Amino acid sequence: AGTLYIVPTPIGNLADITLRAIEVLQSVDRIVAEDTRHSQGLLQHHGIQKPLSALHEHNERQRIEYILKLLKAGEKIALISDAGTPLISDPGFPLVRACREEGAQVVPLPGPCAAIAALSAAGLPTDRFLFAGFSPAKNSARETFLRALQNETGTILLYESPRRVLDSLKSIQAVMGAEREVVIARELTKQFETFLSGPVSEVIAKVETDSNQQRGEIVLMIKGFEVDPDAIPTAAAQLLKELSEHLP
Ligand code: SAM
Repeated sequence: AGTLYIVPTPIGNLADITLRAIEVLQSVDRIVAEDTRHSQGLLQHHGIQKPLSALHEHNERQRIEYILKLLKAGEKIALISDAGTPLISDPGFPLVRACREEGAQVVPLPGPCAAIAALSAAGLPTDRFLFAGFSPAKNSARETFLRALQNETGTILLYESPRRVLDSLKSIQAVMGAEREVVIARELTKQFETFLSGPVSEVIAKVETDSNQQRGEIVLMIKGFEVDPDAIPTAAAQLLKELSEHLP
C-alpha cells in the first residue's frame, strides 16, 4: 500500500524547509497541494517536478475517494499547504481521518508552523497552551468565543487577520480585562518580523499609533488566566456573606 506524507513548507523564509521534506517531495509519485499555482514556486525553486493535484476547502471531500484509490494502488503522495504545516488552519483533516479509517499509512514530517514558532519566542508560558485557530470575524461571535476561553489557564494562540487585529484586541480587553497580557507575533521569519507585548490596553494603544502593526501575517497570543491564590471562591464568599448577616 502507499503512504501519505504530511509535509510542512516555509511560512515566509524559503530556507525554512527540512532536508527530509525536500527528499520526500523529490521521491513521491504525486503532490497534493492546497493551491497548485502557489506551490509551483516552491517546487520550482527546488527543481521538483511532479504531478500536482489540488485539495482545498471546497473540493476536499470529493477528492478523498480519488486519493484513497491512488494510495491503495501503492502511490506515495505528499500533502502540502500554501504555508506551514498542513491541517493546522489548513486543508487535510478529512483526508487524514479517512486514511486512518481505511488503514492507509500516514507519515508526518515535523517542520514550520506559525503558532509553534510564535509561542517558542513570545516569552509566555509554554508548559500548557491552547491553539484556537482564527477567531470569528463578527464582534458578538468573537466575544462569545473569547468568553469560553477566559478561564483557560494555558497560553491561548490565535491566527489573526491584520484587518481585524485591532477589533480582536478590543474584544480581548472587553472580555478578559485591560490588564490581560498579550503578544502579537508578526511576519515571522520575514524581513519585518516583530513581537509586541504587554497588557492588552497598552498593545491596543501601540497598534493604533503604528499602522504597520495592522499589516502582514499575525499570531495573537493571550497569557492564560491566573488563579489568584488569595481569592475566596465565589461559593465560599456567598456563604460568608449569608453567615455574616446572622452574626451579632
Ligand atoms: N498551516 C499554517 C501554519 O502551520 O502555520 C497556517 C495557515 S493559516 C491559513 C494562515 C495564518 O497563519 C495567517 O493568517 C497567520 O495568522 C498565520 N501565519 C502564517 N504565516 C505566518 C508568519 N510568517 N508570521 C505570522 N503569522 C503567520
